[in-house]
Amino acid sequence: MQPQYEQLKQRFQHIIDLDLINSLLNWDQSTYMPPGGSEARGRQSALVGVLRHQKLTDETTGDLIDQLLPWAAEQPAGSPEAAFVREAKRTFDQAVRIPPDLIERAYAHFSHAYQVWTTARPENDFKAVQPELEETLAISRAMAECFPEREHIADPLIDLQDPGMKAREIQRIFAELRAELVPLVEAICDQPAVDDSFLHRSYPIDRQRAFGEQIITAYGYDFNRGRQDLTHHPFMTKFSLGDVRITTRFDEHNFGDGLFSTLHESGHAMYEQGINPAFEASPLGIGTSSGVHESQSRLWENVVGRSLPFWKHYYPQAQALFPDQLGDVALLDFYKAINKVARSLIRVDADEVTYNLHVMIRFDLELDLLEGKLAVKDLAEAWHARYQQDLGLRAPDDRNGVLQDVHWYAGPIGGVFQGYTLGNILCGLFYSQAVAAHPKIPTEISQGRFEMLRDWMQKNIYQYGAQYTTAELVQRTTGGELTIQPYVTYLKQKYGQIYQL
Ligand code: ZN
Repeated sequence: MQPQYEQLKQRFQHIIDLDLINSLLNWDQSTYMPPGGSEARGRQSALVGVLRHQKLTDETTGDLIDQLLPWAAEQPAGSPEAAFVREAKRTFDQAVRIPPDLIERAYAHFSHAYQVWTTARPENDFKAVQPELEETLAISRAMAECFPEREHIADPLIDLQDPGMKAREIQRIFAELRAELVPLVEAICDQPAVDDSFLHRSYPIDRQRAFGEQIITAYGYDFNRGRQDLTHHPFMTKFSLGDVRITTRFDEHNFGDGLFSTLHESGHAMYEQGINPAFEASPLGIGTSSGVHESQSRLWENVVGRSLPFWKHYYPQAQALFPDQLGDVALLDFYKAINKVARSLIRVDADEVTYNLHVMIRFDLELDLLEGKLAVKDLAEAWHARYQQDLGLRAPDDRNGVLQDVHWYAGPIGGVFQGYTLGNILCGLFYSQAVAAHPKIPTEISQGRFEMLRDWMQKNIYQYGAQYTTAELVQRTTGGELTIQPYVTYLKQKYGQIYQL
């Protein structure tokens, strides 16, 4: 069986290299490309996508996978060989099940819908996007229907981002979390509001950038195998395991915006930089799911980067860098300001505690749309009703309501939002395991040292890439199933102390 395995590996090396080439084209487009390059770049990027699709859906790929399935079943469970064939089959199935005309219809429509949204949003015009969303919903349902063995219509869409996770299970977990969050948010919002006005003084951008890069270097982000550039919407991307890049943006009048975005993307990047080099250009050489990826970005952004031990070390440096801006602000006031909790309308600006409520609203509305319980024409109002119910707020318009996120206007409805909250839950779970194994982690963090925490993540999460699924990683690190408890305990301890609940 070895020859077929080697052949399949060779094929996937080409398929994945084509993916990575496209990542390079996209990175350049989002950072340095002059506007004049956009038409040709769109054409070139599409061509690479077509070549990749041809290579992946070629009969030979399917034959090799079929021949290898019995062999893979005999490999030790969880071995790289068994995992390789599992991931190759999942990638192949997703590519061949959805017919080419549906893929074409989807791509053409998503790019059109995105164009419509870019003008509808500033004009607060939900009516303009309504027919687009109706077509998006039809396409999303048609894509899901290509997987008739599914339990729930959202499952195949979720599987694209969070393999193995099911809509019903996520709903159950989210309901549990919501029952904990709603009273916590209420208790916090009964307290006097925190003053964070000093975070909006003028912070020179070159110093913001130097400060962030100094911190992520201490975290362990490897600049010899990465770099940071400027963009409009920060992201992490990868061209090989030796070249994992991050992007960021800065706002002179917002201390947190650039810094926390840098810390966030560095978490994504350290995960990818930590993958076993033997998995280069294979289906295993990538983070295992959107949820596990977000667990790492949120770990380094929030659990570490917004913690008191962290700022005990870094605040004197921040004050030295920004004496006019932070010289008159005490550490505890600064710490409260960067962790300020408030009910708000915009997901991307939300704090750690309320953020998940924003995600759950979107996830539930997606399921209602896919299940046919909610019509697109009623979506804007359903959005307002849920914000009223969950956050006690009603947006003055749809621009601050259903039009705020790009997701539904640039891709399918379903499968994308759940990863953010799964990431928070997984982050709480992994961090509690790391601290249980090494109780000195918070002390190390207060000394500006991160080796113990990073090494735990490297050993238990990063190195495996996609070798283990999310559920397998949870099982291996905790001996059990996904639970919200460590995350809830983390939130209650941290915010209970900040707000003296
Ligand atoms: Zn992220």
